[in-house]
Amino acid sequence: MTTPLVSFEFFPPKSDAMEATLWATVQRLAPLSPRFVSVTYGAGGTTRERTHRTVKRMVEETTLSPAAHLTCVGATRDEVNEVIGGYWDVGVRHIVALRGDMPEGPGTSYRAHPEGYQTSAELVAGIKKIAPFEVSVSAYPERHPDSANWDEDIDNLARKVDAGADRAITQFFFDNALFDAYRERVAKRGIDVPIVPGIVPIHSFAQVRRFAGMCGASIPATLEQRFEGLDDDPDTRRLVAAAVAAEQVFDLMKRGVDRFHFYTMNRDELVFALCHMLGLRAETHVAAAA
Ligand code: FAD
Repeated sequence: MTTPLVSFEFFPPKSDAMEATLWATVQRLAPLSPRFVSVTYGAGGTTRERTHRTVKRMVEETTLSPAAHLTCVGATRDEVNEVIGGYWDVGVRHIVALRGDMPEGPGTSYRAHPEGYQTSAELVAGIKKIAPFEVSVSAYPERHPDSANWDEDIDNLARKVDAGADRAITQFFFDNALFDAYRERVAKRGIDVPIVPGIVPIHSFAQVRRFAGMCGASIPATLEQRFEGLDDDPDTRRLVAAAVAAEQVFDLMKRGVDRFHFYTMNRDELVFALCHMLGLRAETHVAAAA
């Protein structure tokens, strides 16, 4: 088995306690030599400072290659460009470029800032114009809820890639057949950047169900059944979560997938175990391929 490339996603901490948890997680996962790690940007740009601080600290205190998520929401082009330039100045070389959602949350009709980047494709082009950043974008194996049909959805991905995106990272999903069907659509459209599956190890089934509801991801009945009755049994839940995620990633590898993006929720345990099963070791040196 070839060892896959992995990347890890974190969110910026809100408190000192959460900050300590994040850095303990980073320290445990960093020796696995992820291809990159990314730090999210709060809905409506609410974590601008915290995202910046977290990514900057990663540049200064670790050997990781951090990617900063950035959205177009609620800011002018000049404001967004200033953030982009600020990232380059502190040594960040990778941005995850997103349209984002209104501060009221997903489901609220999106309105671009009149003087802002109007779409994520425009943002990708804007970033590339400022400096030669590596740029990742989003992809949706179950379609983005705002897209009217598959053609519109895939056209949108094509626009982002045409604007210079280097890879797409998917929303989480649990049915690998959906990912296969999505890759076929993408290939048929002639899009040739890597489509990296976003994998969410399930720490809390209730939380994942809530996120799935907001972002249009489906939860298979078998998954419901596997976590049924475990809300107050964290030990069993953890074992089930590890088994479920391992089953998903090994099946994806059988389908030819050679890279994974793990949504860590700032917790190391499940992701570390999965990476271990995938053959990653602290001393493993993973080639920095795209
Ligand atoms: P896009 O991919 O640009 O567009 C979403 C959909 O809108 C498209 O599928 C398309 O159908 C439609 N659309 C857009 N433009 C057009 C157009 N011109 N014409 C027709 N249809 C159009 N959110 C955050 O707030 N912070 C984060 O850090 C964050 N990180 C994420 C990371 C990943 C890997 C993923 C998958 C999502 C992330 N999100 C994040 C969520 C994301 O912001 C939401 O899903 C948001 O609703 C869409 O942003 P996007 O960049 O994916 O949109």
